[in-house]
Amino acid sequence: MKTTNIKAYGAASPDSDLDQLDIKRRSVTPKDVEIEILYCGVCHSDLHTARNDWGGTIYPTVPGHEIVGKVTQVGNGVTGFKVGDLVGVGCLVDSCRTCESCKKDLEQYCLNGFTGTYNGHEKYLDEQTFGGYSEKVVVDEHFVLKVPTNLDPAAVSPLLCAGITTWSPLRHWKVGKGSKVAVVGLGGLGHMAIKLAKGLGAEVTLFSRSEGKKADAERLGADEVIISTDADQMDSVAGKFDLIIDTVPYIHDINPYVATLTINGTLVLVGYLGELDPMLNSVPLIMGRKSVAGSVIGGIAETQEMLDFCGENNIVSDIEIIKMQDINTAYERMLKSDVKYRFVIDMASLKE
Ligand code: NAP
Ligand code: ZN
Ligand code: ZN
Repeated sequence: MKTTNIKAYGAASPDSDLDQLDIKRRSVTPKDVEIEILYCGVCHSDLHTARNDWGGTIYPTVPGHEIVGKVTQVGNGVTGFKVGDLVGVGCLVDSCRTCESCKKDLEQYCLNGFTGTYNGHEKYLDEQTFGGYSEKVVVDEHFVLKVPTNLDPAAVSPLLCAGITTWSPLRHWKVGKGSKVAVVGLGGLGHMAIKLAKGLGAEVTLFSRSEGKKADAERLGADEVIISTDADQMDSVAGKFDLIIDTVPYIHDINPYVATLTINGTLVLVGYLGELDPMLNSVPLIMGRKSVAGSVIGGIAETQEMLDFCGENNIVSDIEIIKMQDINTAYERMLKSDVKYRFVIDMASLKE
């Protein structure tokens, strides 16, 4: 298959900084869309992957799965997009399309494993997939999203992961007017969870370790901020929430949050992957029919639904635009929770 060499930014090993490198993109197949990348959001998963926090990273790795760009070429079988369209690509670029999950528009739970935008398997070239910290990407049109044109395209890019990852549980657990939702952690995912839950009509509380984020959280739409390290504040919301979205990326004690769920309430983990420590106490679950659940990103139809909702309600991410060359500093700042509230790379800087 024909390929094109393009510029990208990636990591050569778990402990090396990200730097410029060349990668190949396949030429368009009949169902493919070629996209010039304008903006790419910086997700904490990019950092986890670059540093091999979860194991399994194939090097070199090019992160980035919050992509917004312009269509530059389409295959002759493409029906949904044309050259010049403003489009998005999130965390998925392929799946089997035939299993029970795929048939239900739940490509993220593909029983044969979805293809991640990075660190997945590029079946045409038989190598790892490379993400959005790059000039261009070629994606099957099924996995390409329409971006509402009334929104700032840079501020839309984080919706492609942070937005859909929080939207999907809000919809699955039927959040609406009268729901009491709490969000743990005010970062990229957390700030989108507040905006989207608020947009759906819920009463929203933020749990944060950072006293300094209180005013911002209220500006973003939170009705209440609870400092999670303050036991009295935690007690004040015991038994309150229908749904808690926990976005914390590292191991932490979830038992104090379970105590704040109401009867039938659910705490959904979207941040930390791994074993819990301290262990989860089953008594409050049993005595209150409470659930602890997990959720990964969202399907393509649901992602389009979220983008359309954001277009209609003028919802975008709060962003800080950076150059590609600033990515290593951005990762260090992300580790210190010093992001308001998503870094977005202006991909034009890659040409500098
Ligand atoms: P982020 O911007 O770094 O935000 C994480 C927030 O969690 C921080 O702002 C901080 O908020 C809080 N936090 C950080 N370290 C903590 C610690 N050790 N203990 C307690 N709280 C801590 O990250 P993100 O991009 O939102 O991503 C969050 C996590 O979700 C990452 O692990 C990422 O890989 C994962 N993720 C999952 C999915 C999925 O599909 N399930 C999709 C995307 C990302 P406060 O300062 O307010 O406490
Ligand atoms: Zn992500
Ligand atoms: Zn499938």
